[in-house]
Formats: sequence, C-alpha cells, structure tokens
Amino acid sequence: MQFKNQISLLSAYGQFVSQKDLLDNTEEIIRSDKKFLLLTFDDGLKEQYEIAKPILDQLGIPAIYFINSINHIEKKVSMVHKIQLVRSVMSPARLINEIQNYNIRFSKAEVQKAIKHYNYDSENAALTKYLLNFKLETSLRDQIIDKLFDEVFTEEDVADNLYMDINHLKTLGDEFSLGNHTHSHLALGLQTKETITEEINQTKEFLENTTHQEIVSISYPYGSREVCTQPVEEIARQTNHKLGFTMTRDYSKHEDSFLMLNRFDCNDVPGGKNEKMMFR
Ligand SMILES: [Zn+2]
Repeated sequence: MQFKNQISLLSAYGQFVSQKDLLDNTEEIIRSDKKFLLLTFDDGLKEQYEIAKPILDQLGIPAIYFINSINHIEKKVSMVHKIQLVRSVMSPARLINEIQNYNIRFSKAEVQKAIKHYNYDSENAALTKYLLNFKLETSLRDQIIDKLFDEVFTEEDVADNLYMDINHLKTLGDEFSLGNHTHSHLALGLQTKETITEEINQTKEFLENTTHQEIVSISYPYGSREVCTQPVEEIARQTNHKLGFTMTRDYSKHEDSFLMLNRFDCNDVPGGKNEKMMFR
C-alpha cells in the first residue's frame, strides 16, 4: 500500500515515461522544462516483479528493472545482499568480534568517526558499517562475509528466492523494461578498464541472449561520484549503452550527459522516509 501511495503522490509531480519514450525523445525529455518521471529498480529482486510490477501494470506506469547477471549465470548472491543478510541474522557485537578475529584493530578515534558518520545507528551498528564499508580491504571483507553467510544460508536457495527468474526477465525483455546493472555489482570506478568492460559486457550479452532485445540502459552499482568516473562513462558508451543512471540525487538537467543521469532515491521523494523535497 505504501508503494501505491507513493506512486500516486509522485503522479502529481509530472508525467511517467518509459525507457522507450526516453530513448525516442531523449533531448526533448531531458531538456524540457516540463517534469517527466521514469521509475527504475536496481538489483533484479523478485519482490520488484511480484509486488511492485503488478501495481504499476494496473496503473499503466512503466519502469526499468536493472539486473546483475551473476545472480543468474552463477546462481550467486551479490555481496551487497550477503552483507545485508548476514547483518539481519547476526548482532553487531558478534559481527565486530568475528572481524576482530582477523586481527583487525581500530582506534577510539575511528569509533567516534563511525558514530558521527552513521548517526542514526547504535554505536555497535555504526562501527560494523564503518568496518565493512571503509576499514576492511574488499577481498578480506568478502572472505569474512562469505564464511559467515555460508554458516547460515545456502547460496543457491537464497539466489532462487531473492532474484527474479528467467521467465520474469523474458517478460520484462518483451516489454523493453530491462537494463544492465553489471555482472557482479562492483564499484566500477575503482576497477581496471578491463574489469569494467567485462562487468558491463557480460550482463549485456546475457540479457540480450536471454530476451532477444537490445540492452541500452545501464545503472551503475552504488552510483556515487567516486564510482561513476570518466572511464566508466566512456566504456558504457563504447559498449553501446545510450542511457546511464547514477545515484546523484537530483533532476537530470540539460547540461547532463545522457550516460550520467541523476536519480532520486525513493526515500528522498514525496512519500519517502526522509523526504527532502528537492522536488519542486
Ligand atoms: Zn545495486
């Protein structure tokens, strides 16, 4: 219901368009003074297909669903979701203990920094997020999380339950509502050009082979300025993508590159948890 309410609130702000509308009229829509809205969903979650899509279909509102191919080709769970799942079954104190077992030490100053950065969280929860997101090297973090995840979950079962299935992808392909969210949800801007190309191409090829539709839109995982770098934009262009979506929270305006479009988070718009009303 909350989702439906938010959609109806948003309807008052502008006109919903589809991926095809935006592609056919990119200049007019981005450069226009009128407000156009395009809904996007990242990570290819099954609930987006089973819960959100029927509501949108009923209202006649289109959307783009951005998919990671590792969930389908390798039946693996993306690290970003493994972290969420481990945190959902393990207390922050236990997780901090597990991390300390790997000889990770942190100072009082770092604890203070964590508390300040994650000011909505408890001390231990803030410290956990700080350790996972900033302190630990990616390979060690992945190793720790993989071990904890495997203690509690069966990866293939989680992947089956969490992500859309092939038939969902085919339907979305027929509706021209699919987009590329890269193979394994890495922070692209921090990778080599070879890895960026591989990450982008693998998903494009997988989706095109599965749906027989061309994939021309990409949503960059995490989407911050640090990961949406110049080489990332260049490679997206070289691999025949026409629209690229970041997580810079703003309207897309006439000066923006079509491969570096801004987006609002659903929490930041009317009906969201921390509505900032950047919408005007
Ligand atoms: Zn994502």
